[in-house]
Parts: sequence; C-alpha cells; structure tokens
Amino acid sequence: MARSLTILGATGSIGRSTAEVVLAHRDEFHVEAVVGGSNVQALADKAKSLGARFAALADEGANAELKDALAGTGIGCGAGRSAVLEAVDRPSDIVLAAISGTAGLEPTHAALKPGRRIALANKESLVCAGTAFMADARRRGVEVVPVDSEHNALDHALTAGHNRNVEKAVITASGGPFRTWPRERIAAAGAREASAHPIWSMGSKINIDSATLMNKGLELIEAHHLFGLEAERLDVLVHPEAIIHGLVQWTDGALTAGLALPDMKVPIANAMRGAERIPMNLPRLDLAAIGRLTFERADELRFPCLALARAALKAGGAAPTILNAANEIAVEAYMAGHIGFYAISEIVEEVCSSFSGTGNAPATVAEALAVDGEARDRARRLVPGKRL
Ligand code: NAD
Ligand code: MG
Repeated sequence: MARSLTILGATGSIGRSTAEVVLAHRDEFHVEAVVGGSNVQALADKAKSLGARFAALADEGANAELKDALAGTGIGCGAGRSAVLEAVDRPSDIVLAAISGTAGLEPTHAALKPGRRIALANKESLVCAGTAFMADARRRGVEVVPVDSEHNALDHALTAGHNRNVEKAVITASGGPFRTWPRERIAAAGAREASAHPIWSMGSKINIDSATLMNKGLELIEAHHLFGLEAERLDVLVHPEAIIHGLVQWTDGALTAGLALPDMKVPIANAMRGAERIPMNLPRLDLAAIGRLTFERADELRFPCLALARAALKAGGAAPTILNAANEIAVEAYMAGHIGFYAISEIVEEVCSSFSGTGNAPATVAEALAVDGEARDRARRLVPGKRL
C-alpha cells in the first residue's frame, strides 16, 4: 500500500533528490504536503509534479502569489508559519525533513507524531536541540532515520552488533574543495571557491560547512544523538572518493562499513522505506573500475572548525547549540563577502568562549532556541561593518 509522505524543504537539493525517488516509485508513495522557504514557482512546480494535496511556503508575504501559481490545480496552499505547521500536521506516514539550518527545527520537531517515520536530513535539529528532540521522539514513539549519508551508513553498520561493543564509529569526509590547499590559499578563498564541492552537489550553507569541515563536526554531534555514542567513540576519516560513508570498529577488531556511490538518492530512499529496500535504477558501484580507495587524517590546523565542534561535543550542555548558531551567522557573513574564511572559525570560537560554562543541554526546543538566539546576537556583533 502506498505510504503518504510530506517533504519539508521540497525545493532544496535534498528535496529535489527526494522528488526524483518519489517520481520513480509513484506506486510506493503519495505526497500529502510540500514545504518550501520563499521560492513560489519552485514550490508550485514541485507540488504539481508530485501531485501534492497541500503546499506551504514559509515566506508569509508570498501567499497571494502562491495561490495564483496553484489556481485551478485543486492543491491547497498557504504561506507563513501557521501554514508550514498545518502542512506538518496533515496526516502522513513519513516526513522527509530537509529544511536547511536551524529554521528547520520547529517544523521538524512539530512533525514528531506517534507512529510516524522521520527521514531526517536537517542535522541542525539534532545539533541545536538533540537531547530534547530525541527524548520527544522516543516519548512519542517516532522512528528517526538519518538521511545524512554517513549516518545512514552507520545506522546499517551498527545493526551488526551491540552498541556496547562499538569501539569507534567513524564518519568519512571527502575533505571538501580545499583538502589539498595550503592555509594561505584557503585564507584568501571566497565563497564561490568554497562552494565548488568535488563530490556532492548541495545547498549553499552545507557547501560552506563542507569546505570548513564544520559539516563533519556537526555530523559528529548528530551521530552522538542518533546512536547514543559519546565523543570518545566517534571519529572522522578523510576519504576523498566518498565511497565508504561510515565505519564501525568493534571491540574484537572487526570492522563493518557502509558503501555506496555518492548519490543522496540512495540514503533518501533507504530512510523513507527502511529494511524493505526500494529498487533504485542507479549506476552500481564498480570497485574494480575504481581500483583504489584512499584515506587521510583530518587536518584540524587548516580546518579549525572541526576541532571546535569536537570540543563542543565533549563539553556537552548547550555548547553544540552555541557553536551551531554562531556558525550559521558566520557562514552567512562569509557568503555575503563580509568576512574571510578563517573569520568563520574565529567568530565561532569567540562566541563559544564568551559563554561562561555551558550548563545543561537544553531540555526543550524552546530552551534551545533561546540559547541559539543569544549566540546569534553575540556572533552578529563580531561581524565587521554590516549588521546582518
Ligand atoms: P538547500 O539550501 O538546497 O534547501 C533548503 C530547503 O529548505 C529549501 O527547500 C528551502 O526553500 C527550505 N527552507 C529554507 N528556509 C526555510 C524556512 N524558514 N522554512 C521552510 N523552508 C525553508 O539545502 P540542502 O542541501 O537540501 O540541505 C537541507 C538539509 O539537509 C540541511 O540541514 C543539510 O545539512 C542536510 N543535508 C544535506 C545534504 C546534501 O547533500 N544536500 C546531505 C546531508 C544532509
Ligand atoms: Mg553528510
């Protein structure tokens, strides 16, 4: 029987890949609702091509335009926060949560309804409010399945044994566009160069996070909440071919790895459907043709964001919330050309150390958002010239 699906962030990179999976398997899914940020035409097109029943745009001012774009289609629509929450509230078996940044937290958290499956791409929900988010998911009987390729691979690898027998869970990093660059060259690089990811085609914010390796740091925190593994049992390995996505090293020395060609449609399909895998008509991994896979240690001197994220994970409490908020502001400032590459890590570090003690982990999403707001204000004050 077809499952009903709601896509949050339907117009983004993950949203588009999700649409491809759905369109190739029309009999498996019917789309209940699609949610986007501000692009009216892109959302209307997605709603029509997927045959959604409802479309919501976060941008309140776009209501009339969205109504026009969907006139005569029979697709219900709305704009603004309440419309987004209405979309989330409509009955669906699966919610694919792929809004970018902390903006995704409220709708993703609202999507935690009993019996549902959350295919989670929005890693910021876990980084900003992981303790509260996962506790609410457990309490409400919601299955949270990671879409992030590394975590999706780990999710499978971990089924080969008990968590207590995990010595280390390792997520791989392609290394981003600056993997082989010397520090001085990286320091002078602008957002365009930072966005030229060698392997993945992604949204603009995660692209910059991949260049700074903050993305891997956020993913360590994400893994901590998803799998209940502490900082000491989580690690990063640079693997430029991006074929192995996650590795579990067991206490007896054996390893279990998750491999796939780097295509987000693979973990998306898996997160939506689970053990009963969907046949996907994608190129198959030909290891003999690839010949060799290579690995390096991550260089935290050229990529200090990774060290900052590790420190926040170790410190616990609200440290990851603060780190994530400061990073979002710094990345925005970098993309706007207001600051240089290494100012991102400098701003994050200064904001993190401006909080005396990190207290307990925010117990509710509201608490997490309050800390997030304060950290954003502090980060904005550190951006020279412009107030963002
Ligand atoms: P993107 O920028 O391409 O798309 C973001 C989507 O969110 C768009 O549909 C946008 O309209 C929507 N959006 C933005 N602000 C919104 C708001 N306030 N309310 C509602 N919708 C809003 O980003 P992406 O690359 O698709 O990434 C989405 C999420 O998935 C991020 O959390 C990212 O870390 C995670 N992720 C992405 C990839 C990838 O390959 N792109 C891989 C792993 C995890
Ligand atoms: Mg990833």
